[in-house]
Amino acid sequence: MARPDLVLTGGTVVSSTGAHRADLVVHQGRVAALQPSGSACAAAQVIDVSGRYLLPGLIDSHVHFRQPGLEHKEDWVHGSRAAVAGGVTTVIDMPNTRPPLSSPADAWTKHRLVDGASLVDYRFHAGVDPADVSRVAAFTGREAGSVKVFLSGHHTAPEVVRDPVALDRICGLLADRGLTMVCHAEHDDVFALLDRWRGEPGSARDYESHRPRTAGIVAVAQLIDLARRHGTRIHVLHVSGREEADLLTAAAAVGLPVSFEVTGHHLTFTDADIEGLGSLIRLRPAIRDPADRDRLWQAVLERHALTVGSDHAPHTLAEKRRPAAQAPPGLPGVQELLATLYTGLVARQPGAGPAQLLPIVVRLLAEGPAQLFKLEHRKGALEPGRDADVVVFDPTRADPGAPRRIHAKCGWSAYSGLDFQGTVELTLRRGMVAYRRGTDEDFFGTPGGIWL
Ligand SMILES: [Zn+2]
Repeated sequence: MARPDLVLTGGTVVSSTGAHRADLVVHQGRVAALQPSGSACAAAQVIDVSGRYLLPGLIDSHVHFRQPGLEHKEDWVHGSRAAVAGGVTTVIDMPNTRPPLSSPADAWTKHRLVDGASLVDYRFHAGVDPADVSRVAAFTGREAGSVKVFLSGHHTAPEVVRDPVALDRICGLLADRGLTMVCHAEHDDVFALLDRWRGEPGSARDYESHRPRTAGIVAVAQLIDLARRHGTRIHVLHVSGREEADLLTAAAAVGLPVSFEVTGHHLTFTDADIEGLGSLIRLRPAIRDPADRDRLWQAVLERHALTVGSDHAPHTLAEKRRPAAQAPPGLPGVQELLATLYTGLVARQPGAGPAQLLPIVVRLLAEGPAQLFKLEHRKGALEPGRDADVVVFDPTRADPGAPRRIHAKCGWSAYSGLDFQGTVELTLRRGMVAYRRGTDEDFFGTPGGIWL
């Protein structure tokens, strides 16, 4: 090998199956080799990462970076800064922008918008035009390998597929083309029926009971039936309730092509937190009760969930402070994603150390999404030949009252005041420094993210 560009020496490299001491050799943006710890290597640059853990760059397959059209909430400059500060080096962005992304041409337009502004590599989920669902057939996998379907809507998600015949057609088209369906699985008719009967919610606390688990259970049952009939690959996003987790786990166990995501916020908060945080944790699906949160953690630990996503969906504080019915659901979370998962794992597995817990993180935030969204040839593991996306993580350092510095454009975090365990010290994207944690301020590299 020619003299490599960089060696990270003295650290512990984490995969989904374990953690072992090794020096990580980086050349031309890729992992060139893993060598025995301390083996002499004349690299252009050597970074001592003794005592730290090296994770593959994390993949957040569920972000809303809000461009085009909603730049007052978030943009790619701020969103990708928040991402790399949290160890995320690849994102898959959602289509519910203004205008929405519903054609291959829209994907190219968004790429031109993002190009030169992003610190992270990226893909897009395509959207569905409810007025003409056959338009999804135009996606080839280059522009988008996955299609987002909203079965219920809200302030920033008006493109809802309510017609069961149209949904059937979408599933057939996606199955034919080998595209994955990612789904907001709450059945809109259920909410409409309940609202007609008892009216709109009057307060933040009311709101959660007006958007109950019933709609999620109905939608998940419907999707399982569609997966059975069409063979469509369906990934259910932000599962919030125990019944949905049970149904999807059971369906996957009999071989149906279904899987699911849980989010950092559903793993962290319960309905008891709504009293203090109000509409900051007004979310769709809603935050549920402690038994639901326990079931989501079981899904994390027992391999029921395939991915953990942030559903990074920022709004301004002024928007969140509107009266209950007008406060839009969503919160920023890409910066806090790793911290919420790792902190929760430490709390729930008190006997385990980082060498046992971090492989779970890698499975859900790197390997799982890389596999589902066909990024494995480049992303998801620190193996020779793959991109040198690396997170240098110190599990012993804590961030009390975290996050210490908020990089999302909206400038607030529902997690402020919580204690996060572990910190990201350095994030490399294809061998280049994308983020370095500083004492007084954080350093960010040059936005050079590419469309994967
Ligand atoms: Zn979302």
